[in-house]
Amino acid sequence: MGGDHEGGGWPMGKLFGTFGVRGVVGKEITPEFCLKMGMSFGSFLGCGKKVVIGSDTRVSGEMVKNAVVSGLMSTGVDVIDIGVAPTPVVQFATRHLGADGGVVVTASHNPPEYNGIKLLEASGMGLTRENEEKVENNYFENRFSLVGWDRVGCLSQRSVLPTYVARVKEHLDVEKIRERQPFVVVDPGNGTGSHILPQILREVGCRVMTINAQPDGFFPGRPSEPTPQNLVNLCRIVSEVGADLGVALDGDADRAVAIDENGSYVQGDRTFGLIVDHLLGQLGGGVVVTTVATSHIIDEIALRHGGRVIKTAVGDLVVSRKLVEVGGVVGGEENGGVIFPSLVLGRDGVLTAAKLVEILSVRGKSFSRVVGELPRTYQFKEKIFCPEEKKGEVMRFVSDKANSFGELVTIDGVKVLKGEWEWYIIRASGTEPIIRCFSEAKSEKRARELLEEGVSLVKSVLESL
Ligand code: MG
Repeated sequence: MGGDHEGGGWPMGKLFGTFGVRGVVGKEITPEFCLKMGMSFGSFLGCGKKVVIGSDTRVSGEMVKNAVVSGLMSTGVDVIDIGVAPTPVVQFATRHLGADGGVVVTASHNPPEYNGIKLLEASGMGLTRENEEKVENNYFENRFSLVGWDRVGCLSQRSVLPTYVARVKEHLDVEKIRERQPFVVVDPGNGTGSHILPQILREVGCRVMTINAQPDGFFPGRPSEPTPQNLVNLCRIVSEVGADLGVALDGDADRAVAIDENGSYVQGDRTFGLIVDHLLGQLGGGVVVTTVATSHIIDEIALRHGGRVIKTAVGDLVVSRKLVEVGGVVGGEENGGVIFPSLVLGRDGVLTAAKLVEILSVRGKSFSRVVGELPRTYQFKEKIFCPEEKKGEVMRFVSDKANSFGELVTIDGVKVLKGEWEWYIIRASGTEPIIRCFSEAKSEKRARELLEEGVSLVKSVLESL
């Protein structure tokens, strides 16, 4: 590899996004790139170390995985291949098998032409930014510690799915689920949750119907991201067949969303709220970790149970790390990814979906009733176009000006607190030329006013530059 190929399609010095590397297969994600990633990670870990690897259902999965494996082995690292598995299962296996690191070959909910690589530390959490930089430096400086023929790493296959399934079941009130026998429609979107989630739900006594539950890297059933637009079939089927609940996963099964018995999509911060309410109720309190952009219903629910909420910047990695640091019981974001640190140090869509089934069974009411009993708030969102090069300056001015509007929280973007339950947040997108504003309040009118205040603040700054 040399000359033009050196950095592949990557800008010098930066490979990793919020969690791993993602790109189009054949463009950014080439066999050379994957091989070099394997050699870079292996050189970072060192000869004699052990790595777990697993991939999602994408067509390119084996190509990417085998190149990474080859790179790892060339540095003297032993590799345990767990096959096609949800991201949370690879994270679980890394810790469970006592490995020194892990690799997830996945592009989560991206279209089928994408793939990606996530690197894990021994705990199963994603690498810290500091360690990612070390791997990046190896990559860009071609600093590889290749070993001689007699020390090349070895490759073995292991299945951890049965162990993971057993551990998920230990986290569930199986007796209550068996009593209620809820009728659940599962839509894994042809992703890695296709077999495992229906299997677990059947084994704990649910009546299960599936759609899009054949693993298929073309994602023929629906686009992989579990958005309301992509789940119209699931919504319709849930209400038509008279199911108690619908659950959908994204491609790598680290996120789950719910559809109530009327076929209505339930927002991710509300399902997260249900889980917080349930767990804190059982434990009589506890620490919850979430991001500054998540609904304050989480605070309200935690308060009811004498619990505490710690807020971080946006991103599941930050939330996971904080959970470990403070010994929190559960963490999550507004997008349907819930972290149960007692099982996996990362978002787990399989356990999230199973927990929602448990909550439904324990409460003995319809899912819409259970969701309806959560605190009510109104939320509004708007995107404002902002050229990439202006984002930094705009956000600095927004922060200065917002000072007079309320109490500021600047952990991530600019959050303006008007009162305990009234706020808005302004954040620059990491991937698109836009700035997002998001408001929340107890009344619809107030939430709209707050959104307008935030949006006009950004627009006035943009015009003044
Ligand atoms: Mg995902």
